Amino acid sequence: MSDEADARSRDAADPGHRDLFDIPPATGGAYDEVAYFAGNSLGLQPKATQGELLADLEAWSRLGVEGHLEGVRPWLPYHELLTGPAARLVGALPSETVVMNSLTVNLHLLMVSFYRPAGTRTKIVIEDSAFPSDSYAVRSQVRYHGLDPDQHIVRLQPRPGEDTLRTEDVVASFDDTVALVLLGGVNYLTGQLMDIPAITAAGRAAGAVSGWDLAHAAGNVPLSLHDWDVDFAAWCSYKYLNAGPGALAAVFVHERHLGSDLPRFEGWWSTEAMTRFEMAPVSRPPATVEAWQVSNPPIFSMGPVRTSLEIFDKVGMLALRERSIRLTGYLESLLDGVDVITPRDPVRRGAQLSLRVAGGAGELARRLRHEYGVIADHREPDVLRLAPVPLYSTYHDCWRAASALAVLLRA
Ligand SMILES: *Cc1c(COP(=O)(O)O)cnc(C)c1O
Repeated sequence: MSDEADARSRDAADPGHRDLFDIPPATGGAYDEVAYFAGNSLGLQPKATQGELLADLEAWSRLGVEGHLEGVRPWLPYHELLTGPAARLVGALPSETVVMNSLTVNLHLLMVSFYRPAGTRTKIVIEDSAFPSDSYAVRSQVRYHGLDPDQHIVRLQPRPGEDTLRTEDVVASFDDTVALVLLGGVNYLTGQLMDIPAITAAGRAAGAVSGWDLAHAAGNVPLSLHDWDVDFAAWCSYKYLNAGPGALAAVFVHERHLGSDLPRFEGWWSTEAMTRFEMAPVSRPPATVEAWQVSNPPIFSMGPVRTSLEIFDKVGMLALRERSIRLTGYLESLLDGVDVITPRDPVRRGAQLSLRVAGGAGELARRLRHEYGVIADHREPDVLRLAPVPLYSTYHDCWRAASALAVLLRA
């Protein structure tokens, strides 16, 4: 059997849920559809999204302001429809999870509560390869507290000659000057899955708060935020969660912080829903994460998150993870003589392989797209990222990517 026929037979045996998604047509190469490996950057559109979004628009045209309380999905409690599925996705209680805002905005709102430099405990630990938005966010938070970011941010680097961080080295950086540890659950560049429970526990033991940016982890790997005792977390919904460009993000705050007197920035959505229209001058925040909400949510952006989370609820994160391990392992097995910087151990990675490409990855990504219809992305200067997404990617996609790479890298 040829490698291509082998890939086809694997797809027949282990099909995933591609039929639930719109797959973009290819403009180059020998196949009608693209081989899409950029779902870690922008997930594809579920087929159900358009109709559901139109139904929400229709409610507005039919009901006007009455839509707040009437219709199939009244707007006032609309966000509650998303809470259960979002909580299940990350292993949280419904009281610990809410969908709101965008990711970096949420990180700021959470750091208002959880980055409280005092005395000599002032530092924030991040990865040196943190996503730039996270770097800028923590620097501006440190400055907001009147401190010098160059003195009060610790950027963790892999050991010389290594590409990813060792848990023991992360943990060794925690001392009594660290106020906050804010790491990516899955690193956007290397695809490394961090040992979230171990690092969280070590941070806590060192007297620091542990927050996680789960942009590349939510919908990619199973999470148990409540049981892992994570203090707080935030994630966006447009990568593995397929809710569309700039889709609403979500936050987690552990139960033990709910109802506490942590400082928060408030608005009318921070107060108990029952009291919202009393128009009282002082809020009465609920003892749930909803106390971190500020504004009334954009309903037409909530719909695509709801539609997408329903898919995760139906398929289940554990089943997805199993297919993900098979699919990523298959792609890895086809990549011959390529420098993969993602950990080789499936336990330490999600659905992404990052390749280091001598001479730069930009031109390679461009040729993959135009000549082969393979959509990967590159990160400066020399990393090509390929994410076989277990919901909709196929073994045949992996074969297409690997055989195209074999040709282009040999040249
Ligand atoms: C994608 C991503 C972001 C994007 O931030 P937005 O506020 O959604 O624009 C931030 N941080 C990480 C780690 C990301 O992967």
